[in-house]
Amino acid sequence: MYKINENYLKLPGSYLFSTIAKKVSAYQQANPDARIIRLGIGDVTQPIAPAIIDAMHKAVDEMGKAESFHGYAPDLGYAFLRETIAKNDYIARGCDISADEIFVSDGAKSDSANIQEIFATDNKIAVCDPVYPVYVDSNVMAGRTGTYDAKTQVWSDVIYMPTVAENNFVPEFPKQNPDLIYICCPNNPTGTTLTKAQLQDWVDYANKIGAVILYDAAYEAYISEADVPHSIYECKGAKTCAIELRSFSKNAGFTGVRLGFAVVPKELKCGDVSLHSLWARRHGTKFNGAPYIVQRAGEAVYSEAGKAQLKEQVGYYMNNARVIKEGLRDAGYEVYGGVNAPYIWLKTPNEMTSWEFFDFLLERANVVGTPGSGFGPHGEGYFRLTAFGNYENTMEALERIRRNA
Ligand SMILES: *Cc1c(COP(=O)(O)O)cnc(C)c1O
Repeated sequence: MYKINENYLKLPGSYLFSTIAKKVSAYQQANPDARIIRLGIGDVTQPIAPAIIDAMHKAVDEMGKAESFHGYAPDLGYAFLRETIAKNDYIARGCDISADEIFVSDGAKSDSANIQEIFATDNKIAVCDPVYPVYVDSNVMAGRTGTYDAKTQVWSDVIYMPTVAENNFVPEFPKQNPDLIYICCPNNPTGTTLTKAQLQDWVDYANKIGAVILYDAAYEAYISEADVPHSIYECKGAKTCAIELRSFSKNAGFTGVRLGFAVVPKELKCGDVSLHSLWARRHGTKFNGAPYIVQRAGEAVYSEAGKAQLKEQVGYYMNNARVIKEGLRDAGYEVYGGVNAPYIWLKTPNEMTSWEFFDFLLERANVVGTPGSGFGPHGEGYFRLTAFGNYENTMEALERIRRNA
C-alpha cells in the first residue's frame, strides 16, 4: 500500500485569496450598482512591449523552418540569453558574475520553491515576517519546518524575523543561527528595501555563521533610490554566501510567458562541494529548459528598444504607486513602500485588524486590497495595495478613499 508525502497534510489551507473573492462577490451581490476597484492583484496588467513581441514573432517563424528549428533547449539556458543577462544585469553594475553562473528557468516562483532541494532536511530556515508564502510552504513540503500552530500561525522549526514599522522593515539577526536565510528585496508584500550597507551586514553575517542567503530580487526593476542594491553581488563577499533569484514577470510582464533565472556563483561552496554543481545536476535532471521562443523574448528585454519600452512600463506602475502613496498620506494614513516597489503597505487606522480594514475599505470605498495578516503574524494591522492596476481606476480608488475612508 502506498503512502503519501504527509508533509503536504501539514500545509495550512491558503484561505487568503479565496476569502477575499468570497467577500467581494457577496458584497457585489448585495450592492449590484457598486463599481468595485481591485488594488489587491499581484499580477501585471500592461501588455507585452512591442520589441519583445517582435522578437517572439521572429522566433516563432524560425521554429517553422527545418534549418532554424529549435528542439530541447540547453538545460541551463541558451548562451545568447545567459551572456546578455551577465553583461546587462551584472557586469554593467560592477558585479563579477559570468554567463555560466546563470541558470535560466521558467520563473522565480519555481526557483524559490525548488532551491531548498539541494540543502539538507535538518537545515534551519529563517524568513522575514510578513513573507512571500512560497519560501515557507516549499520547506513544509520538504519536511523542514516542524509543527504548525494554527493559532499563532507559526512553525516550530522556522526562524521568523519580524519586519515592522518599529524596525523600519529591516530584519534583525536572529538569536538562533539559521542555515538558510530568505531575503526578498525590494520586498513583497511590504514594498520596502534594504540599503546596500544593510545588505552588506547580512552578507557579512552569513559568511561568518556559514549560512546561505537566498536572495529574491524579482522587483529589482522598480528600484529608484541610489542606495538600494540591484543585486546582492554588489556586496563584498556575496559570492561565497548568496544565491540570487530573478524574474522577467514584474519588469517585463512575463507572468503568462514564464521566464526567470538563478545565479549560483562557483565560489559558493559547502566544504569542497560547489552548490553550482548541485544546482546544475538538479536542473539537468528535472528541467528540460525554458522554450526557445521565450528565451528570445527574454533577450529582447535587454535590447535598446526593449529597455526603453520597459522603462516606460515600470514608470507607469510606479506613477500609480506614487498616486496611492501620496493619496493615502493626504488622507492621514501611515504608509510604507511604493518608492522602490509596486506595493504600498499601510498601517490600518484606529487599531483595526487587517480583515476589519478590508471590510471597511470594501464598504466605504468599494476598493479591494490584501489584508497584511495573510502574509504572516506580523502582517497583522497592515494592509497591501498594489500599483498594477490602470491609472484611471487607481486615481478613482484614491479619490474614494480620500472622501469616504
Ligand atoms: C511575483 C514574484 C516572483 C516571480 O515569480 P515568477 O514565477 O517569476 O512569475 C517571485 N518572488 C516574489 C516575491 C514575487 O512577488
